[in-house]
Amino acid sequence: MGGIPDKIQTWQMVQPTTFNRETKESTPGKLEKTEIPVPELQPGEVLVEVAGCGVCHTDLGYFYDGVPTVSKPPLTLGHEISGTVVAGDEAWIGKEVIIPAVMPCRKCILCKTGRGNRCLAQKMPGNSLGPYGGFSSHIPVPSIDLCEVKDRGDIPLSHLAVVADAATTPYQAAKRADLQPGDNVVVVGITGGVGQYMGQTAKALGAKTVIGIARNQEKLDRALKFGADFVINSTDKDARAVSKEFRGLCKEKGLPGTGWKIFEVTGAKGGQEIALTLVSFTSKLLVLGFSLAKVEYAIGRLMAFDAEIIGTWGCLPEYYPIVLEMALSGKINVPEFVETRPMSAIEETFTEAHKTPPMKRIVLTPDF
Ligand SMILES: [Zn+2]
Ligand SMILES: [Zn+2]
Repeated sequence: MGGIPDKIQTWQMVQPTTFNRETKESTPGKLEKTEIPVPELQPGEVLVEVAGCGVCHTDLGYFYDGVPTVSKPPLTLGHEISGTVVAGDEAWIGKEVIIPAVMPCRKCILCKTGRGNRCLAQKMPGNSLGPYGGFSSHIPVPSIDLCEVKDRGDIPLSHLAVVADAATTPYQAAKRADLQPGDNVVVVGITGGVGQYMGQTAKALGAKTVIGIARNQEKLDRALKFGADFVINSTDKDARAVSKEFRGLCKEKGLPGTGWKIFEVTGAKGGQEIALTLVSFTSKLLVLGFSLAKVEYAIGRLMAFDAEIIGTWGCLPEYYPIVLEMALSGKINVPEFVETRPMSAIEETFTEAHKTPPMKRIVLTPDF
């Protein structure tokens, strides 16, 4: 653990990629290494020395795809953070922590009725926490939401950054789905950063069957070792073809035709179409992936099916210790799905991850 620094070293998004509709010209986004002052900590705040910060699809959305951040640039992206408390509340100093990706206000009606994960006044590092984000040496955060890491064995603290987002979002989704032991589950997009944890989480919570759908065969084969019982490769298939294959699989394996819990994690039109086609009698479709794409669906079918479509966002800080325990006890695997790189490689890493989704979650570790 280092002491309190003079300055925070950070990689700021000075400007996101912009696209001019009239001229059809796009101006590349810009990340810049800089130093910012260490703010005076407010009561209830601590300063965390960052051990690692995961590169999430959401960061790439802000940087490349015109998704606006709440705090305007320049700001530092990154919301999947683990680290060590170095200043602030005495009781926290020296503790290793995970910083939840979304921190509720705890005062509003949503917070008071158990829906704090979607609190409208919530703070998210790298989006709505002023200029502060995880691609930094240090970050000031409220201490109330921190998840303390104890007895992590030989799992590096940096790897546990994924608990801040990729591994917790699926847990919240499973809760929203009222996932019960013995349930049958489909994960559309099981190969992605969040998707693979969705499969693992469903299995860890006692799902009887987990079927994974995605396009990358190498990653689908890996999913079979981590949570998935069966996989369907959807490359070059439309939603109907995938649905037909799914029903064939159910018949062959003696699986029921009703009550499936379907998790849509791709946030892509194709994935959403597949997920909707799979909705049948008493199904629940959970939407974890974001996109602005419009998909056509006859919602009257929900009535006929007595089925539900439910959106789910982030994860309540209260669930973090449970997910952390699942990660530390190996019920969900972290090391096999994480690759660390020096933070100084952030520009190349963004370019690469934007072009091809990486095999493993990339966690950047401060070196500057
Ligand atoms: Zn994220
Ligand atoms: Zn609130």
